[in-house]
Amino acid sequence: YVRIAISFGLAALLLTLSCDNICNLNIEPNQISSVSLQLFINNEWQDAVSKRSFPTINPATGEVICQVAEADKADVDKAVKAAREAFRFGSPWRRMDASDRGLLLSRLADAIERDTAYLAELETLDNGKPYAVSYRVDVPMVVKCLRYCAGWADKWEGKTIPIDGDFFCYTRHEPIGVCGQIIPWNFPLLMQAWKLGPALATGNTVVMKVAEQTPLTALYVASLIKEVGFPPGVVNILPGMGPSAGSAIASHMDVDKVAFTGSTEVGHLIQQASGSSNLKKVTLELGGKSPNIIMSDANMAEAVEQSHFALFFNQGQCCCAGSRTYVQDTIYDEFMERSVERAKSRVVGDPFNMKTEQGPQVDEQQFKKILGYISSGKREGAKLMCGGGVAADRGYFIQPTIFGDVQDGMTIAREEIFGPVMQILKFKTLEEVVERANDTKYGLAAAVFTKDIDKAHYISSGIRAGTVWINCYNVFGAQAPFGGYKYSGNGRELGEYGLDNYTEVKTVTIKVPQKNS
Ligand code: ADP
Repeated sequence: YVRIAISFGLAALLLTLSCDNICNLNIEPNQISSVSLQLFINNEWQDAVSKRSFPTINPATGEVICQVAEADKADVDKAVKAAREAFRFGSPWRRMDASDRGLLLSRLADAIERDTAYLAELETLDNGKPYAVSYRVDVPMVVKCLRYCAGWADKWEGKTIPIDGDFFCYTRHEPIGVCGQIIPWNFPLLMQAWKLGPALATGNTVVMKVAEQTPLTALYVASLIKEVGFPPGVVNILPGMGPSAGSAIASHMDVDKVAFTGSTEVGHLIQQASGSSNLKKVTLELGGKSPNIIMSDANMAEAVEQSHFALFFNQGQCCCAGSRTYVQDTIYDEFMERSVERAKSRVVGDPFNMKTEQGPQVDEQQFKKILGYISSGKREGAKLMCGGGVAADRGYFIQPTIFGDVQDGMTIAREEIFGPVMQILKFKTLEEVVERANDTKYGLAAAVFTKDIDKAHYISSGIRAGTVWINCYNVFGAQAPFGGYKYSGNGRELGEYGLDNYTEVKTVTIKVPQKNS
């Protein structure tokens, strides 16, 4: 095992070998916090039944950070048992006042906020995203999401229904039960919060499998879950692999719902596993190939900057990345020139440097896949305008890359690249661009840049996607739902709709005698 020390403030990293299975990070002078590297089941830290572990890698160097216990089916069974027991009618969690459930979530938000610097460092170490982003974006959004959900806990109301006859009819919004949650590596902390917040606010219990590339922050949050007082078994956190631990959750006969964020390919498998096991409820947040439309009347400087952000944010590793940039023909050349200039100025490098805008891709597999897409772009005749290569001699860094003259049928215009590779396409008319923008199997997000409100409305109602941004991109609020049309998924996360996906509606009908008997 590896012992890690990060000195707060300098964000300097020091790796020293030791023989225990605790990862220690100095987050403030005199304050040491720990990440356990085991499985978190029933509020206890446990080795995997198989005793197996796997390495988690620092993508900036390619070196192993530490070994983490590797859950598989036997551990999923244990965690589901604990979650089922915690969900038993009459258990402390089921008997807990909704307001107290909200309070626990608020306390979790407070604890995460207190440890922002530590969590941000750990996230950057494990995922490679710039520390400035982990600190200023990821962790604060986690805190806001949990606080938002906490507020809902005692406001999740049913209805009274005026049915015919002498009856009093009402609905109860009840938790679904044991929820399996499988999350990806691109926003490890945030995806954990998006899943935990609504599930816990509505009274479910959780078995969460975290992505094998980025298990560390989720494990630290597990220790905070225990610290703030969630009863045993309410939240269980399992690092492990998809085909073993993930699929054991998806096909488990005693899991009532599975919520998944990841690739469309695995989304299919999750849906199939539900169908061939117990028909558990399934919500899926999957891939995208989102169109970002720049009309000729747009504010050029803003459109260039926002389109850059739409694609390159988070190393291009966003399911909603604006990865098809459609530019109206009359401004195409100027937009291209300015976009290339911006991409060339993007600061790529050490994610702990506060000036860095772009860190490494998350792992070697993604790195190679992206380089493969760049080759396909060149092969299929797109014009490489900048970048196109590796950006450092170690770690998984890729140059900010732009392709021009991209045609709709090219692989780079159809498939999700999940990297810092921008596709710029030319269009003439509004009608044409809406049709082309919709010509994709995906439907997660879209954007339009224009000063004309009529054009903005035409596009926002014409595009088949779960989110449309107008003159902005990547704007998220815990209050607003997010999710996909078509192959981009089922259900919504965040907002009231997100909580809805974690509840069953029960109709209760009571006979009301009309006379005193
Ligand atoms: P990516 O290709 O971006 O890594 P994936 O869809 O493969 O996206 O992974 C997202 C999450 O799904 C991860 O936690 C991963 O371990 C998990 N996963 C991968 N394969 C499966 C599977 N067959 N069943 C369940 N979960 C899986």
